[in-house]
This record gives sequence, structure tokens and C-alpha cells, in this order.
Amino acid sequence: MSDEIVLRFAPSPTGYLHIGGARTALFNWLYAKNRGGKMLLRIEDTDRERSSDAATAAILEGLDWLGLKWDGEPVSQFSRVARHAEVAHELVAAGKAYYCYASPEELTEMREKAKAEGKPPRYDGRWRDRPASDAPEGVRPVVRIKAPLDGETIVDDLVQGTVRFPNKDLDDMVILRSDGTPTYMLAVVVDDHDMGITHIIRGDDHLTNAARQTILFNAMGWAVPKMAHIPLIHGADGAKLSKRHGALGVEAYRAMGYLPAALRNYLARLGWSHGDDEVMSTPDMISWFDIKDVNKGAARFDFKKLEALNG
Ligand code: GLU
Repeated sequence: MSDEIVLRFAPSPTGYLHIGGARTALFNWLYAKNRGGKMLLRIEDTDRERSSDAATAAILEGLDWLGLKWDGEPVSQFSRVARHAEVAHELVAAGKAYYCYASPEELTEMREKAKAEGKPPRYDGRWRDRPASDAPEGVRPVVRIKAPLDGETIVDDLVQGTVRFPNKDLDDMVILRSDGTPTYMLAVVVDDHDMGITHIIRGDDHLTNAARQTILFNAMGWAVPKMAHIPLIHGADGAKLSKRHGALGVEAYRAMGYLPAALRNYLARLGWSHGDDEVMSTPDMISWFDIKDVNKGAARFDFKKLEALNG
């Protein structure tokens, strides 16, 4: 196996390039540059209703303006759905996933039962070991992964440390819908594997997904990439970053006349620091960047500090 370092930035093209997304891209880019690796770009456009070409173009332009050049051609996740479905069927053939014919009424019943017991909604595995001859006629099944029943799934995160998920909380998730389209969880894992991704850096809102994705990587017998879940960005007042704190899109800063180097410098320091250095050249940032120095706590976005850097 080659020991090349390969990262990816994987935005969903549902709007402009957000400050949070730009920082995720920057950390991936810095990590790749620091280690002589690559950063690929994957456009996660499987949600056809919410994705648009205009948003994809805005994201590409934003990255370009910030100087975060990706390697190779952007990969459209939607263009790979046949491959995702193929992997789901391979898992069924290997006995690691199964067809589930549970009706919407049965699923509602399961949800209500769990609710009444004060438990999180959970699929009860009723089609896990049923023979194909039980399949009701005319019903198109979903495909579910056989998740481990006992023990725990461990995510060894480069930022969060060892995070343990009891497997009883991670049920047999759907990987292929009844219309044959992949779920997000399947698409990400297949793409990360096929693109040769060795390191995943993304927001910590994906930490639970990381456990579910680990189950899928393991079921396929694929190496799990190293993961780093970075804390989300909050406003200077500590509340989750929202429009009332200031502009959220990279494009807005560009329009206000900010210099890309100033925004890049500011984003680099959102959650990562190198000694007391406030102003860093890009070569310095690249040589100093270490994911281990990223804080576990939420970063605070301070509009005034950004203004000072630009001035
Ligand atoms: N498309 C996801 C997002 O925009 C990112 C998925 C990932 O990095 O694994 O939040």
C-alpha cells in the first residue's frame, strides 16, 4: 500500500461557501500540504432537491479565491450512485447486510414503542435473519447493514481522543433505499474508500456518523481512515454562529474587500494556534500546522479580530 496522504473536502452544494466549511477546507489543505499529500474535492450532491450547480460554482470560486487549490478534478457523488448500490448488494451477498421489508406502519410502531420506553428510536432487526421466501410480494425492500449487536464501536479521533459508542445505540441502518439510491452514510464510505482517503477532517457534528461509518468500513473489510472532528464555530458571545453575528459566507468577505490572505489567516486561527503568532504567512502556516494542536472546545468567531487582520 502506498503511504501517500490523501484528504478531501466534501461540501454539500446547498448554498454558498460558509465560514465553517472554509475553515474545514483550510485545515484539510494545511494538513495535506504539511505532509506532502493531496486534498481532493468531493461535491456531495446526492440530495437532488437541495443541491444546485450554482452552489457548486460558488463553493469552487470561494475555495479558489482563498487559495485552497484542490488536487485533480472535483468528484460528483451523484455520478457514483451505481457504484454505491453495487457495494450494498455485495454486502448482502456476503451476508453482511440484508433486505428489509418492514412497512412504514411497522417502523412507526417501533419508534413509538421506543419512545414509550424512553429509548432512542431503533430498528429492532426483525428482517435480519428472515429467509428470502418470507418477502412480501410487490414490496421493494431497503438494504440494512448488520451492525454489531454487542460491545462498542471506537472512534480514535485525532482531536477528540478515544470516543466510545455502545453498539446497542447504533442499529441496523439503511444503506440503500427502496428506490435503489444510497443513503448518505453508504455514499461517504464508498467514496472515501475508492478515492483512497487516508485522513478525514470535518466538523464534530459528524462524530456519531463516524461511528456508523466505521461499522460500514469494517463490514467491507476496508481500512478506516484516520479521523479528526473539529469543534464547530461559535460567535464571540459563545452561541452557535448565525447570521446575527455577521456575514457567514466567504463571498461576502470578498465583496467587502477583504484580502484572501487575511481571511485565510483568521480561519487558520479559529480553533488552532501556534504559540502567540497572530499573523502567519502561508508557508509558516503549512509548516506549523498540526492537527494535534486543534482545540477541543468550540472556536469563537470574532468579527473585530478579523477586521484588525485585514487592516
Ligand atoms: N457533506 C457533508 C457536509 O457538508 C460533509 C461530509 C463529510 O465530510 O464526511 O457537512
